[in-house]
Amino acid sequence: MKITVVGTGYVGLVTGTCFAETGNEVTCVDIDANKVKKLSSGQVTIYEPGLEKLFERNLKEERLFFTTSLEEGIRDAEVIFLALPTPPGADGAADLSFILKVADQLGKLLTDYKVIVDKSTVPVGTAEKVIAAIAQNCKTAFDVVSNPEFLREGVAVDDFMKPDRVVIGTNSERARKIMGELYAPFVRQGNPIIYMDEKSAELTKYAANSFLATKISFMNEIAVLCEKLGADVDMVRRGIGSDDRIGKRFLFPGIGYGGSCFPKDVQALVKSSQDVEYDFKILNAVMDVNERQKLFLVPKIKAYFNGDLKGKHFALWGLAFKPNTDDIREAPALYIIDALVAAGATVTVFDPEAMENVRQLIGDKVQYAEHQYTSLDHADALIIATEWSVFRTPDFHKISASLKNKVIFDGRNLFEVARMKEMGYHYESVGRITIA
Ligand code: NAD
Repeated sequence: MKITVVGTGYVGLVTGTCFAETGNEVTCVDIDANKVKKLSSGQVTIYEPGLEKLFERNLKEERLFFTTSLEEGIRDAEVIFLALPTPPGADGAADLSFILKVADQLGKLLTDYKVIVDKSTVPVGTAEKVIAAIAQNCKTAFDVVSNPEFLREGVAVDDFMKPDRVVIGTNSERARKIMGELYAPFVRQGNPIIYMDEKSAELTKYAANSFLATKISFMNEIAVLCEKLGADVDMVRRGIGSDDRIGKRFLFPGIGYGGSCFPKDVQALVKSSQDVEYDFKILNAVMDVNERQKLFLVPKIKAYFNGDLKGKHFALWGLAFKPNTDDIREAPALYIIDALVAAGATVTVFDPEAMENVRQLIGDKVQYAEHQYTSLDHADALIIATEWSVFRTPDFHKISASLKNKVIFDGRNLFEVARMKEMGYHYESVGRITIA
């Protein structure tokens, strides 16, 4: 099948590459000429494990093309995916201007039947708006399908190639058949394609992300309570996770959720609820807890240094909002950096993949270390903000040799508390006993 993907960010590039991998001819369109130039010349523009190999193969086999021209990009396509940004607007609602602008352009360009697929995360009712925007100028038949994307950055290729489920929202038989064919190779193991109406598909994505964010904030509150009551959140987590109804996954406490999805999607669902005069109480609490949790370590750090961080220097490991990605959108590390710098401290950071993005965003607000261990030189303490595997079993001799004091504030509970005590560290983590 010939398909087009409009928007080649984290979702669009993975979507386009994976559809090419199953034999489709894919043209990816982006307004960012620099990105298109890099991609066309074989350079992958995001860090995503496993993507490069697939990308190179499909570029070489001439199943993957890039252009800045929407007109050229959609010419022969049967299906057009919109993988465009839907950032939060000033009132928290998803900003649909990227989607509706392209929909408007498509209306002028369509000359034969095509399926236009919303892959972006969009509020209920967006499919109707996209239909209206296209129909204004369009003289040919078309269908709009809601097909939300559930991939997780860091394992996006695996998630796309073997999705837990594919959700397809459409009432058109014609579109349903085409979408079913396109996705058939991805669900051969038996995971379902779930067909539904457009509105239910749109809400499914927000419900999924909001539920997961709720799970995180819930565990973060349990962690706070553990510290106050003298319990150990690791034990509680294991104790509850073995119940099938709760499940083991996604129960790890930490310094809050970040990224380009959970914060904006929870906010957008709250706004959608307000618009229909419904007060979604749980989600308001989920957001409040997360705001507090992002800075969870800061009072602990201040308390350790008797409330005065002026002139203190910190090493910070982990900038990406989670491991295996270079995405720093809404990353808790950035909030911690702001708080430390505002309190008069200096920070040297290290991240395996996200340094360049941080440099572009905050420049010389922090210093950038070449290596995880050189970041520690002359630091008063180490702070850990992202659970990259490479931080899990570090060389503690190197750490203690470089740090001024053996002090670690760990926002991701990477190390065993007892082991840290044995090694003589002052170690603070989330929801567990502090070893002084
Ligand atoms: P992104 O910001 O990484 O990429 C968006 C791309 O669209 C950019 O390359 C941008 O240049 C391009 N673009 C903007 N306007 C354009 C236009 N008029 N024509 C062509 N290209 C244009 O965004 P993303 O993270 O890929 O997210 C896209 C959507 O998918 C969002 O709605 C997001 O909520 C949703 N989503 C994201 C993830 C994720 O993990 N990132 C997962 C599931 C769903």
